Amino acid sequence: MNAKTLALLGGTPVRNKPFPAYKVIGQEEKDAACRVIDSGILSRFLGTWHPDFYGGPEVQAFEREWARVAGARHGISVNSCTSGLYAALGAAGIGPGDEVIVSPYTMAASATAALIFNGVPVFADIDPETYCLSADTIRERLTPRTKAVIVVHIFGQSADMDPIMALAREHGLTVIEDCAQAPFATYKGRPVGSLGHMGVFSLNYHKHIHTGEGGMVTTNDDALAERVQLIRNHAEAVVEKKGVTNLVNMIGFNFRLGEIEAAIGREQLRKGPRLIAERKNNVACLENALKGLPGLGMPKIGAAGDHVYYVHVLDYDATVTGVPRELMVQALKAELPVTELREGEGPLVGMGYVRPLYLLPMFRKMIGYGKTGCPFTCPHYEGEARYEEGMCPNTEAAHFHRVVTHELMRPGMVRSDLDDVAAAFRKVWDNLPALVGRLV
Ligand SMILES: *Cc1c(COP(=O)(O)O)cnc(C)c1O
Repeated sequence: MNAKTLALLGGTPVRNKPFPAYKVIGQEEKDAACRVIDSGILSRFLGTWHPDFYGGPEVQAFEREWARVAGARHGISVNSCTSGLYAALGAAGIGPGDEVIVSPYTMAASATAALIFNGVPVFADIDPETYCLSADTIRERLTPRTKAVIVVHIFGQSADMDPIMALAREHGLTVIEDCAQAPFATYKGRPVGSLGHMGVFSLNYHKHIHTGEGGMVTTNDDALAERVQLIRNHAEAVVEKKGVTNLVNMIGFNFRLGEIEAAIGREQLRKGPRLIAERKNNVACLENALKGLPGLGMPKIGAAGDHVYYVHVLDYDATVTGVPRELMVQALKAELPVTELREGEGPLVGMGYVRPLYLLPMFRKMIGYGKTGCPFTCPHYEGEARYEEGMCPNTEAAHFHRVVTHELMRPGMVRSDLDDVAAAFRKVWDNLPALVGRLV
């Protein structure tokens, strides 16, 4: 066997040495965490109407700094993006019988958020170029029961928001941007999270910047900000003294972020632009090396917005290469090493992203709360929930046939690492004829 034979067919892989770990936490975060520990105040939230209802000094400073960066009036920290989505839909007043339009091509929490308030998620299809919802696909799913839309800026690129906001104004819908994968991304020069009525960000350890676990809600609307703050922190015990009379969804949670996380978040926020620039540079370097490989499309950067590359999503066309996607990905993975700290996941290359969410058992079997089908078949709900294969053809084509994702452009990957990634792709493409006709 010579070095040119595919590793999948018994040859030598392009690389065995693991890729460097994704590690964006450093001395600044360590100093910030120590500052909080030395202060002895690890949290200062009080779940009553009191100045400490808004949390301690690090939490409040983090929120102000985030809001400034995100171009929004308010930042409200939470302990995850998931809880931020719950708080945002609660603030929007979602209740039994209401429909919330959401993308099926996202992390599951984008869709469970409606269920928490006994609302019903309605899945609209994605745009095949941005993989996000579009005004056209949302319009197809509008009913008199539609109350809100969760637009996910998936993979790191903004949805085309202007037409979506115009549609929302026409129909009185609340628009929540799920910005978990797109912090610092812009749309027509404006930061995501400031375009809809509320934006929700994730600070979990996979994301561009992180605090281990955490999240942030942004909004320009004072009333929505107050309702998110209430839902975050025991609303039911606060409303009376605070003089809040609208009791809709004022059953609070504890979604409070700790002071250590907030202090770390402030440092991460400062590093954000540099970390995003590193991702963009790495992608530019890779795309330059992969340019011209037939059947391999790179993300299209629309006139509307930039891309911050949470993952690098590629469009694979097996009709051009003659090799099924699964076989190509197997061959590619065989050439590549694991990434440190994520060894168990194998090389960080994947077919598709998450299975369209309407295929989850919860939706297929319509079992939410209790055994009787609430909220899907609850008497308050006058629509007909539908969750079946084929309902979002663009999503299914992307997931089951075209999309190849990888994370080998994260900060920490240096030039020689990127060269190895590109070499692996090129080697597979040089050997496509050896794969044509082989069984997966
Ligand atoms: C990561 C992610 C979430 C959830 O974030 P958590 O902070 O882990 O709750 C939600 N939506 C999308 C699109 C995500 O990528």
